[in-house]
Amino acid sequence: MYEDFPTLKTKINGRRLVYLDNAATTLKPKRVVEKLKEFYYTSYSNVHRAVHTLASRATVELEESRERFAEFLGVSPQEIIFTSGTTMAINLVAVSLLRSGLLKENDLVLTSLLEHHANFVPWLRLSRFHGYRLEYIKPSGRFGTLEMDDLMSHREKNPKVLAITGLSNVTGQRIPVEELRNIFPNAIIVLDGAQLLPHERVKPKEIGVDFLAFSLHKMLGPTGVGVLYGRKELLEQMEPFLYGGEMIDRVSLEDVTFNELPYKFEAGTPNIADIVASKEALAYLEEIGFEVVHERVERLTQLALEELSRVDGVELYGPLDERQHGIVSFNIKGVHPHDVAHILDQEFGVAIRSGHHCAQPLMNLLKEQSLLDFPNSTCRASFYLYNTEEDVRIFVEGVKKVKEWFSR
Ligand code: PMP
Repeated sequence: MYEDFPTLKTKINGRRLVYLDNAATTLKPKRVVEKLKEFYYTSYSNVHRAVHTLASRATVELEESRERFAEFLGVSPQEIIFTSGTTMAINLVAVSLLRSGLLKENDLVLTSLLEHHANFVPWLRLSRFHGYRLEYIKPSGRFGTLEMDDLMSHREKNPKVLAITGLSNVTGQRIPVEELRNIFPNAIIVLDGAQLLPHERVKPKEIGVDFLAFSLHKMLGPTGVGVLYGRKELLEQMEPFLYGGEMIDRVSLEDVTFNELPYKFEAGTPNIADIVASKEALAYLEEIGFEVVHERVERLTQLALEELSRVDGVELYGPLDERQHGIVSFNIKGVHPHDVAHILDQEFGVAIRSGHHCAQPLMNLLKEQSLLDFPNSTCRASFYLYNTEEDVRIFVEGVKKVKEWFSR
């Protein structure tokens, strides 16, 4: 596997790179980069319109990607919309629900304080202009853990929309996504799968979510590709988010009719080559097996938690049990997270993230509970299939050394 990821050969100040920033974005296997090159050199053209050979090759390749993702999720290709990422997918859902009247003034939108800004800011800002009510599920458990009771306590409110993450990008908590439909039988459920899908095959129809968004760059694919699954019955009723070419059927001076699904939601020239290469990322993961990826990441997560919990002066966030997957958020008491990340990089070749992780509502909650030394900031290490126990060992040794140096 090491050979498949040339970036892993990079040296940082003469040390082997230990890449633990996978929740931000993952490295790319050769297979994905080679597909991009091959496609650009042999089949690249604009899609759907022209009748020439290259255009039809490109169209076939792009539609093949759609079919692969549809099979992966167990849905129809008509329900797969390509976007630029999770952020655009969630904005699309929110705006289109509003424009079509499926979400109206005084309706309730429920989200949580665990959310990435991508699943928080759209709902917050749009409520200003459209007058729907917005409420937040507050994690009551240990260090920002969302408990079942927190979800249950909103049950009676009968929200119109529930917009929630499948796995927190700060604490790594996996949410019991299988339970959401039972708890909120009438809600339009929008699942932010940006962190969950790299680790698990999720079947939206089986668990009963209406929308599922994720980004390919977090699962070995190129940047600039998002997948949005939307339930057909809802997509059919929804007004498009973007207007332009490709998404229309007929245009007159008075009005337009829209193209069929999913093209109605794909205005303009899509990110053709990256969408095409995305199917190679999916194929790579499927060949290795999502179960294998899951098991490896779980082992590394638990190992890191175990090792770090033995280091005095290290504060860990999240549930710290089997609900935590792929992500370890922590602080060294008295040391700014940016200093920790900088030293780990420069002295140990370990790439982690520090900051608010685009989840300021959760950071504010941790701060309120006096769990953060520094406002709005933690260190975050995140694992993926190419990481090893040796990576965890180098990382933990690095953390111990940083702590030691700062306590002199
Ligand atoms: N949701 C979550 C939980 C995330 O971790 C991220 C990326 N950090 C996003 C949404 C946004 O994804 P993108 O930047 O690819 O649109």
